[in-house]
Amino acid sequence: VISVSGVTKDFGTTRALDHVDLSVEQGEVVVLLGLSGSGKSTLLRHVNGLERPSSGSVRVLGQEVPTLRPRALRTMRGRVAMVFQQFELVPALTVLENVLTGALSRLRGPRLGVWSYPRAVRTAALTHLDRVGLLEKAHQRADELSGGQQQRVAIARALMQDPEILLADEPVASLDPESSAQVMRLIREIAADDGLTVVCSLHQVDIALGWGDRIVGLRHGAVVLDLPTAGISKAQVMEIYGRVSTSSA
Ligand code: ATP
Ligand code: MG
Repeated sequence: VISVSGVTKDFGTTRALDHVDLSVEQGEVVVLLGLSGSGKSTLLRHVNGLERPSSGSVRVLGQEVPTLRPRALRTMRGRVAMVFQQFELVPALTVLENVLTGALSRLRGPRLGVWSYPRAVRTAALTHLDRVGLLEKAHQRADELSGGQQQRVAIARALMQDPEILLADEPVASLDPESSAQVMRLIREIAADDGLTVVCSLHQVDIALGWGDRIVGLRHGAVVLDLPTAGISKAQVMEIYGRVSTSSA
């Protein structure tokens, strides 16, 4: 469902991606692993059309993304949900209102307040909140929640799109170890239950090992590792960081 081939991306004189090849099958759960600046976010942004490659091809759900016209691009993005390191919830809205905004791309016109959404959409939002274990927080303000809880709200919001692909850009980078483990477990469970294809960027080797189906290592914008997670050793993964200090890995 995702096929990136020969993608190079230059920002001025910075080469953010260097001849990247990545193909992801339907239902696969892939980790993109690399240090800060290795190109993880840039690669994810190419997959949902937020960046155009300097050269190479990006095919997602059967379409060549850089050639899509705005309307087709919007439709494609509707099938690809994204969660971010900083959650990006609307702080003053309630948890439920935040989740409901995930349906906005499919609804016409602006919405104000829970009751302005169709009943089926409200029901779906409550169902997703239940799945992420936060039904009892539905009417609390988003900024009253812990980081881990906010990320679970962001996941529920992403599910409102009924996505086929979930892109997660360092979803646990700002969370403590316990919340990180909980969020990563949740993503895995949802992917399995819904047959979602997931590409999740991470910088922590220990979280990557034993989590998804495959680990793709990026270094200076190039893919330097692409192996099934089962059977991969920590030493193998550490090689993507080279001989530089691995303390931040
Ligand atoms: P982090 O772990 O810090 O999020 P990353 O692996 O996501 O890092 P990217 O954000 O993809 O890395 O950045 C890769 C390289 O491209 C970096 O050198 C960065 O400075 C550069 N870069 C990314 N976006 C832009 C941009 N819009 N303009 C200029 N340079 C950019
Ligand atoms: Mg990034």
